[in-house]
Amino acid sequence: MTDDIAQHYRQIITALGENPDREGLRDTPKRAAKAMQFLNAGYQQSLEEIINGAVFESQTDEMVLVKNIELYSMCEHHLLPFIGKCHIAYLPDGKVLGLSKFARIVDMYARRMQIQENLTREIADAVQQVTGAKGVAVVVEARHLCMMMRGVEKQNSSMTSSVMLGGFRDNPATRQEFLTLIN
Ligand SMILES: [Zn+2]
Repeated sequence: MTDDIAQHYRQIITALGENPDREGLRDTPKRAAKAMQFLNAGYQQSLEEIINGAVFESQTDEMVLVKNIELYSMCEHHLLPFIGKCHIAYLPDGKVLGLSKFARIVDMYARRMQIQENLTREIADAVQQVTGAKGVAVVVEARHLCMMMRGVEKQNSSMTSSVMLGGFRDNPATRQEFLTLIN
């Protein structure tokens, strides 16, 4: 698999007018192939595997919020990175999820070819599915290199996407509390 991808990178480097045999580029196809496989490792994972039973009984019914989870993904239109942070909140219904698992969920979906809107939705649906929560809220704020480095070259624009499920969608006060807490 790595060799196959590396062979394609070698062709891309050649097609772009470079010499893949010069010293600085000699190992680049293989390195780039490994990097691209790492950045798409989410396809090899499943929700069950990354959660690995880390769902615990709890009587709390207060909002749980995990803020500022770093997020690195790649846009499916240009295969260029988008980088930002993710905020996740949920309203437990007898079960809570281990703290580190929120980052694992974000990484699993981010390490795929994505658009930010779908990524946000997939994270929210996963948290809902795993916790059976009364509500889930996810906000992703990200800067897209395909917009910053090419095309319109807007350096400071960022995009915000959100998905509100259950109590966060139905109850404006709950939603407002979440939005206040992340801002
Ligand atoms: Zn793009």
